[in-house]
Amino acid sequence: QEGAKYHGIVEDCCCDYETVDRINEAVLHPLLQQIVKYPFFRYFKVKLWCDCPFWPDDGMCRLRDCSVCECPENEFPETFRKPSLDGLSSDNLVCQEEKPEAAVDRTIDSKAFKGWIEVDNPWTSDDETDNAEMTYVNLQLNPERYTGYIGPSARRIWDAIYLENCPNYPAGECQEKRILYKLISGLHSSISIHIAADYLLDETTNKWGQNLSLMHERVLRYPDRVKNLYFTFLFVLRSVTKAADYLEQADYDTGNSLDDLNTQLLMKKLLYDQKLQAACPKPFDEAKLWKGQSGPELMQQTQRQFRNISALMDCVGCEKCRLWGKLQVLGLGTALKILFSVNGNELSGQRLQFQRNEVIALINLLHRLSESIKFVHEVEPSLVERINEK
Ligand code: FAD
Repeated sequence: QEGAKYHGIVEDCCCDYETVDRINEAVLHPLLQQIVKYPFFRYFKVKLWCDCPFWPDDGMCRLRDCSVCECPENEFPETFRKPSLDGLSSDNLVCQEEKPEAAVDRTIDSKAFKGWIEVDNPWTSDDETDNAEMTYVNLQLNPERYTGYIGPSARRIWDAIYLENCPNYPAGECQEKRILYKLISGLHSSISIHIAADYLLDETTNKWGQNLSLMHERVLRYPDRVKNLYFTFLFVLRSVTKAADYLEQADYDTGNSLDDLNTQLLMKKLLYDQKLQAACPKPFDEAKLWKGQSGPELMQQTQRQFRNISALMDCVGCEKCRLWGKLQVLGLGTALKILFSVNGNELSGQRLQFQRNEVIALINLLHRLSESIKFVHEVEPSLVERINEK
């Protein structure tokens, strides 16, 4: 009986699965669903050029401006539809960007970005300084969903992440060593769930919908992947509530006073919701980590690995996947900065500072994870029933 798997406390966290589902359904998801639609949170600043430092031979990342690469008709789309999984022939890598569902709609509202400071995030590799390479993207016009990005290029990124930057240490290893794997695996589960939840079911009729077997195949049939999703969700949720004072007072000004006021009110509700505080006051206990003698060194190593993962996002060979990959990795980097910053409030007396983009990434990431949790909760029982009927 697969449906009965998720009981008890989420591993390494402080709340149980049922509570997470309950507060997500009743409070978090409905609030986040509204928040991300407001102008402050729907525009994300991003360098979409694929500027891959690792594989200069990659057909998709060879050109600096490959995100808008113009490919002769005959170079695709056949190979994209039936991508070969054997080997990295550059023929089937070139111009995957051209798939319409993988392209980013760049319509923006230029007023939405102003103010805020520029500060570094030690967990990420991106230079967030404003410059001509930055594009402002309306996330509502570019939902995270199936894009057709499959095959060796996508596989190479995930392999590089897992094999080189966050190995899956055995269960007995300390929490510090396992945390990065769990965070990335949880994010990967969420990405796969969004692909399956909004899938191109029929290319000829352009019919989109849920692909539940894919969701089962990629995520639900692996209990650890589901558990890691809950872990990542609670980790990010804890970072948001820990930064409540800052986020409550942040400048949500986009030039539209009614929208901005609503954004602020909804954020306040999210940060101080009483049901959430009663049910799950501390979703994750960050104070337990990095305590031992090798703590500081382990943290630095984890930070280096996370920066590498962040740099790998420049190698993602599909524009829309790169957009969401960068956003969510920046969101995780922001959560890590909040929870594990050496210059955190207590230690140096300095207040943590954030870029506007970090706050946008953090809240959108929480929304993505919240939506994935909702899907799992809603879909799994019916899926298990269907599988048992077969
Ligand atoms: P993959 O998802 O590529 O997984 C590769 C391997 O990783 C698996 O074989 C398994 O061994 C392991 N694995 C899988 N899931 C987990 C997990 N949760 N925890 C631990 N290990 C796991 N495609 C889209 O259509 N839309 C997108 O928005 C999108 N965004 C992407 C963003 C990034 C950063 C990357 C790298 C890829 C993205 N892709 C996207 C591609 C997508 O993630 C898959 O790579 C692609 O659909 C092929 O899937 P797959 O079945 O080969 O397995």
